[in-house]
Amino acid sequence: MPIAPGHDLAGARPNRSRRAGAEPSPPDAGLAAKALAVHRRLCPVYGCPIPYFHSLDPLSELVSSLLSHRTRNADSGRAFKALRARFPDWSALLDAEIPEIEATIAGVTWPELKAPRIQAILRRIAERRGSLSLDFLREMSVDEARAWLEAIPGIGPKTSAATLSFSVLRMPALPVDSHHHRVAQRLGLIGAKVDVGPSHPILRAQLPADWSAQDLYDNHEVLMLHGQQVCHHRNPACRACVLLDLCPTGQARLGSA
Ligand code: SF4
Repeated sequence: MPIAPGHDLAGARPNRSRRAGAEPSPPDAGLAAKALAVHRRLCPVYGCPIPYFHSLDPLSELVSSLLSHRTRNADSGRAFKALRARFPDWSALLDAEIPEIEATIAGVTWPELKAPRIQAILRRIAERRGSLSLDFLREMSVDEARAWLEAIPGIGPKTSAATLSFSVLRMPALPVDSHHHRVAQRLGLIGAKVDVGPSHPILRAQLPADWSAQDLYDNHEVLMLHGQQVCHHRNPACRACVLLDLCPTGQARLGSA
């Protein structure tokens, strides 16, 4: 979908991000400007606003996100459908035998780890809330909702952000996957030693505070798509990259070629 003429990527759309606790330290102004320039450069290429790929309730999105870790989308999508078919009500999964869950999600990476982890996380949610639903998160700020989720062992920054952003909650959270992280690192938006988890608050803080859920979703998607299609893990296509003039890694590669 092409970008609408005049689409204001700096976004005046309202968001529901109310901050809890201390404000994060302000980002470097140069990096914030660069992050915005990258977004504006990539959006016309990949077609912002990008349609959401899921319309799942937040609990189902959480399960989907847990399945997707280090797994191809097609394989995790198949595993999610199989799990949903075998356990149409997630509460049926609470007391299921682990080998049965593991067999149902056999197509994902590390099913032997993911099966007990998913069950433990669902049990923890049920214990904390008295019911198996995450719909209540919509009443929280993004920071509060992320903190609530990340207090559960096995839920990290990427999973919490994906649950809030990709589900029908459509909350303004920024997920960072391995492609997004790689491109951000090569562009110099984050340091070479900053891992995926710690990169979440840094990359979010570089973007305008008033950005909507759609703006942040677009930012994640365009960086992820760029990582998949151009800035490959091996042999990035720097000569064809629209970010080359912004990218120290690409310039160094071509300068030494
Ligand atoms: S110039 Fe090369 S390294 Fe930099 S973002 Fe583009 S493809 Fe990746």
